[in-house]
Formats: sequence, structure tokens, C-alpha cells
Amino acid sequence: MQVEFVGSGDAFGSGHRFQTCQHVTADGLDVLVDLGATAFHALKSTAADLNRITTILITHFHGDHFGGLPYFDLDAQFVSHRRMPLTLVGPPGLERRWRDLLDASYPGFAASRRGFDMRFREMAPGETIAIDGLRVTAREMLHDPAAGICLGYRLETGGKTYVYSGDTTWTDELIPLAAGADLFAVECYVRSRKIAVHMDYATLLGRLPEIVAKRVVLTHLGPDMLDHLEDIRHETAHDGLTIAI
Ligand SMILES: [Zn+2]
Repeated sequence: MQVEFVGSGDAFGSGHRFQTCQHVTADGLDVLVDLGATAFHALKSTAADLNRITTILITHFHGDHFGGLPYFDLDAQFVSHRRMPLTLVGPPGLERRWRDLLDASYPGFAASRRGFDMRFREMAPGETIAIDGLRVTAREMLHDPAAGICLGYRLETGGKTYVYSGDTTWTDELIPLAAGADLFAVECYVRSRKIAVHMDYATLLGRLPEIVAKRVVLTHLGPDMLDHLEDIRHETAHDGLTIAI
């Protein structure tokens, strides 16, 4: 399994980083996890063949995590001339949120005839599904109630496990989500200031021993983290970072 951090930034372009997107590939597997508004542009600069991507998993309905969907959709229609079905996986309300986002971005486009099937798979917290040869488990994270249920994902294929927290402050749900993962990408927005919606490094440091992931990468770094990377003992993501597990 290979994970490319296409976009590793926060919502604000801190450090000139693109918003969240990970491109996860393995034998017969080609999926995205999140696609922020600016991440689509980053994706276009990678070697990814957009028509080979079968599924996009969305952690939650914030623009820096799913705002790139209208551009992917438009590109699929008018540039890449997609024919293969595209599956969106996400929290409850996924199809309605997708429609609202498309209507706001390109009025009328959501209802237009397209050259490929759109499929929606909403996941409840605690649910595990099989899709594209991938076993996906979702757990509820602690982020922004206004965005509805926010998910973290555990992806398993070929005996390898990749876990992504999505956006969250500390929650004990992270322990079973990431237990024994070959790679655990966890958001870490600030160093030690406690905030209700994002992870701080001090808290994470204290709790990581309970997770026992084989490799931990911090992502979604805010200015406070980016300005003090020398104080951070863990590996940090950057746009383009590619990890094989
Ligand atoms: Zn975010």
C-alpha cells in the first residue's frame, strides 16, 4: 500500500500547503481520502490518473476536506471524459451535502446528465464495509457538530492498515481506530493549546502509547506547529510526501 499526501495543510493555506487529500494505492486499489477545495489543484500536479480513481472517502463536510469535489466532477465530465462509476463514501447526509455543494458551486450541474454513474455510500460510526477490495471502518471523531458526524477511517488491504483521523480533538475512539496500524496519519493543528475542535501535540504525545501504531505522521499542521517543527519529535507530512507500507 502506498499513501501520497497530496495536500497536507490546514484550511488557511498555512505554510503554502494545499488542503487535505491523500491518494491511497495498492494492487488493484486507487482511492482518495478527502479532497479539499485547493487539493484538487495539487492532485492535478501529481501523476494520478483521475479516471483510475474509483472512490473518494470524505471524513467530514468542511470545505478543506470535501470542497474539491465539484472540480473533480467537472473535470471528470469535461476534461477527463470519465466513464467508470465514481463512488463517494462519507458520513450520514453525504448525498445531500454533495448536492448542496455542487448547487452552490455550479448551479444545475448536480442534476445534469453525466457520462458516468455517481454512487453514494454513507457510513455510520462503528460500521465496516468492503469496497474496491478495501475494508473500511469508520469511527466518530470529535470535531465540529455543525458539520454533522465527522469520521476517521481505518483502511485495510493486503495485510496492511492505513488510518487517518480526519479532523478531531482527542477522543478515545482513536484508540481502536488506529490500534496496530502500519501508518497512522493524525491531524495535529497546534502544539499545546487546548482547542475544542483540533488535536494539540501535547495531548497526542501523552495518549499515543495507548494506540501502538507502527508509524505516526502528523498532518493538517497549523502555523504554531509549522513555526516550531524543530520541537516536534514525530514525523510530519508535507505536500507530496509518499509512504509505502
Ligand atoms: Zn480541516
